[in-house]
Amino acid sequence: MKKEPKSLQEAILYFSDIDNSTGYLATKRWPKGVTCPICGSDHVSFNPNRRTWKCSSHHPRREFSVKVGTIFEDSAIGLDKWLTAIWMLTNCKNGISSYEIARDLKVTQKTAWFMLHRIRLALQDDDHGKLRGEVEVDETFIGGKARNMHLKKRERRITGRGGKDKTIVFGALERGGRIRTTVLAERKKKALHAQIKAQVQAGSALYSDALRSYDGLTQEYAHRVIDHAQKYVDGKVHTNGLENFWSLFKRGVSGTYISVEPFHLFRYLDEQVFRYNNRKGLKDSGRFNLALSNIINKRLTFSDLTGKTATTYAY
Ligand SMILES: [Zn+2]
Repeated sequence: MKKEPKSLQEAILYFSDIDNSTGYLATKRWPKGVTCPICGSDHVSFNPNRRTWKCSSHHPRREFSVKVGTIFEDSAIGLDKWLTAIWMLTNCKNGISSYEIARDLKVTQKTAWFMLHRIRLALQDDDHGKLRGEVEVDETFIGGKARNMHLKKRERRITGRGGKDKTIVFGALERGGRIRTTVLAERKKKALHAQIKAQVQAGSALYSDALRSYDGLTQEYAHRVIDHAQKYVDGKVHTNGLENFWSLFKRGVSGTYISVEPFHLFRYLDEQVFRYNNRKGLKDSGRFNLALSNIINKRLTFSDLTGKTATTYAY
């Protein structure tokens, strides 16, 4: 086997060989040797022609491929395309549209759209430990349906504040550490306090803007407020880390994705949060492998994703 890829170009070349892509995924999935996804037995035999394994125990679905029980299950798309798409999405700066993926991987745009959403599922942050130390909290509005809108108007709607067709996103950022985002139905005190208490360790230093919903947190946090009507930074008191994240995200949404339905917004946030949280200390191949390690036991069907069946969905 050739050595593992380190760049997009090497990844495309390497994974285009189906034995390489199957072998690579199998090694990551079963580092201690292949086991049956149904019963866990390691008495399995490999069929090199079909690239499948067969469990020696007698039970239904004893023949399995490396895709079974992962985000790739039931997909007719080859692993070469899947692995290349994961490499691209985990290592780009501002996201990749389904149109770009469709062009580069020679699949339909609808297929690319579905692939990207499945991959985003693997990028979800499963670490639920609380943020601590110096933590910025902020909320923002992200525009919903902006399709068919004049560019200037679209930019205004996506980057502006307020409006009933917008989605509220709450964020908490540990300085020098991780970020978390959540889509909220409203930004009243009760909702924001519940988020902060769920995500930020009591006793942490908390920085927010002067929105009244953040009042009343000084019992549990060393809470300092920056009033943006007066200034944006007062020593350590600012929310610039989150402001930067929001602007990057909004640029991605309006520039790359054109429009994001509110229903899907959290998936794009998962993607951006993954890149942010893993931006340091990992090379491209490291981010790719991290996403791969997260593909097992995750499924996303077309109807889960759209609330529709594939045949009725026109896009
Ligand atoms: Zn078995």
